[in-house]
Amino acid sequence: MTAKTAKKTALKTPRTSVRRLKERGAYDRETIYRILDEGLVAHAGFAVDGRPFVIPMAYARQGDRLILHGSVASRLLATLAQGVETCVTVTLLDGLVLARSVFHHSMNYRSVVVLGVATPIRDPEEKMAALEALTEHLVPGRWAEARRPSKKEFAATEVLALPIDEASAKVRSGPPGDAKADLGLPVWAGVIPFAPTAPGAPVPAPDLKPGIPVPGSVTGYRRGRR
Ligand SMILES: Cc1cc2nc3c(=O)[nH]c(=O)nc-3n(C[C@H](O)[C@H](O)[C@H](O)COP(=O)(O)OP(=O)(O)OC[C@H]3O[C@@H](n4cnc5c(N)ncnc54)[C@H](O)[C@@H]3O)c2cc1C
Repeated sequence: MTAKTAKKTALKTPRTSVRRLKERGAYDRETIYRILDEGLVAHAGFAVDGRPFVIPMAYARQGDRLILHGSVASRLLATLAQGVETCVTVTLLDGLVLARSVFHHSMNYRSVVVLGVATPIRDPEEKMAALEALTEHLVPGRWAEARRPSKKEFAATEVLALPIDEASAKVRSGPPGDAKADLGLPVWAGVIPFAPTAPGAPVPAPDLKPGIPVPGSVTGYRRGRR
């Protein structure tokens, strides 16, 4: 399969086919994984009694699957663990696009939608590895620094795996796309770029024991295009 064919076919199903501005859609794992690996917050959608809910949560990509976690008492996790279909979305905002006309204003973004059914990870080793992947996704290097989950904490945490089998990316970049007739208007047009999620200066916990140095995972924390 050529790269071009892979871009068109992999992970693309009727449900994940971008309909509006189709050229912005991508279905190859490389594009999709790059977005997933940069993002921090996913929104998981699911229906309960025919009513939709969309809940923000952390996630990580572990190989060809997404890892989701939370309290065993959470409705979100309990619902997904029952095999209810979910739609998980991750969005990166890259800029605000200002056109001459209000109509052509837009946003530069990279987003991914993954559809499927998540299953609970019951094997203890696999579950611990998934928690490690989640921690490392949020703060690379943190797993080695922090205390591992106790038996009680481990049992109280539900960890789910959602295979990335049906997914799409949609990407908009570049300047505004004004109508030709508007190009002569005396209106400023262009892009207000948004930097990748930028960490601020670390704030130590108020009850931190004195003398503990800030670890490299914190001082060197970066998000952004990898
Ligand atoms: C950035 C971020 C990361 C998070 N990461 C995780 C995670 O990895 N795992 C996890 O389990 N939870 C995470 N949460 C919390 C998550 O959004 C839910 O609040 C949590 O799962 C509790 O769900 P529940 O089953 O108790 O709530 P539900 O019983 O599902 O919620 C009941 C109602 O409470 C309201 N509600 C619930 N959560 C929110 C919310 N976040 N914002 C506004 N209203 C809300 C809604 O109206 C909802 O219908 C995260 C939240 C944020 C904002």
